[in-house]
Amino acid sequence: MSEDSLSEIFKAETESKVLRNQSLSEDEIVSLLMSEEPRDVNWLYDLADRVRARFMGDAVFLRGIIEFSNYCRKNCFYCGIRRDNRRLKRYRMTVDEIVRTAIEMEPLGITTVVLQSGEDMRFNRDLTGELIRRIKAETDLAVTLSLGERNRETYEYWRDCGTDRYLIRFETSNRDVFRALHPDDDYDKRLNCIRNLKDLGVQTGSGFMIGLPGTTIEDIAHDILLCRELNLDMIGIGPFIPHPDTPLSQVGKRPGLEFCLRVLAVTRLVNPDAHIPATTAFDAHPHKGGRQLALQRGANVFMPNMTPQKYRQSYQLYPGKACVDEGGAQCAYCTQWRIDILGRTIGEGPGHTIKLQKF
Ligand code: SF4
Repeated sequence: MSEDSLSEIFKAETESKVLRNQSLSEDEIVSLLMSEEPRDVNWLYDLADRVRARFMGDAVFLRGIIEFSNYCRKNCFYCGIRRDNRRLKRYRMTVDEIVRTAIEMEPLGITTVVLQSGEDMRFNRDLTGELIRRIKAETDLAVTLSLGERNRETYEYWRDCGTDRYLIRFETSNRDVFRALHPDDDYDKRLNCIRNLKDLGVQTGSGFMIGLPGTTIEDIAHDILLCRELNLDMIGIGPFIPHPDTPLSQVGKRPGLEFCLRVLAVTRLVNPDAHIPATTAFDAHPHKGGRQLALQRGANVFMPNMTPQKYRQSYQLYPGKACVDEGGAQCAYCTQWRIDILGRTIGEGPGHTIKLQKF
């Protein structure tokens, strides 16, 4: 046994804690993230899968994502649709077009629409409110928004229009790295957005990027613990992938798939009752099939891309994104197949958070 392998006592204690929804310490998380012994890694993946099954069940919930605008007022250093990327063809779907796309999802078994865009202020409080109300009136879909930072009053208004959930990632819990990579943002303000949403009773998702330049393995442990501290309903994580049209094109390198899957598995151990998607970034070239692996290592949500095909090439937050050449229904059928071959079922109903009794 190598010096770095995990002891049987450590494994037994970890198992006992996570199956009772007790947190792990930073040191314990770091040990799990650093462990590369195949025997230990397999144990970790098996435990993450069992924790997922015990707390979240075997159903995989589908959230169809519509990336309806790639305009953004901000300049995050890692992002392909940042304001200063002049090589990008900008687009903005109309409300009618978005509603039509949402309506097409329902017959495909999708029960949630995720409306995502850059921070496009043309979609202000009122226009976005109209969009939410129309989708709620014309479909039975749950509505998730992922539109970035807005004030509390706007979040409250969107909740009253029918928004069920909101996704806004903190990206890293390392304040210095956050400041360096987000010229338009403030770390405390970002966390305040998350806390406002929780406080307003909106099911709240956040998460982080794995391997951002300047971060350490201890930072990832903090990221995982911050997800627990925030009591998130959903947690989205994915690898940092340098985009050629950003200031980070030559900085840092993407983390390997195995490491990312370990981070996902440990995130599940520390956050047993949160929805965790197998994000598209797990499938980014050259890792086709990464999303299925994610579903076997703690994830329980899949987000087929429902963005009309003609826009997909223009919404690449990172290069090598999966499914940019396919169309909506094709993505839904492919999703069904991916879940079937894992022996899992597709979730029925909206798949709301299990943390709030009222749902
Ligand atoms: S990460 Fe979000 S806020 Fe930042 S540039 Fe990209 S779309 Fe805009």
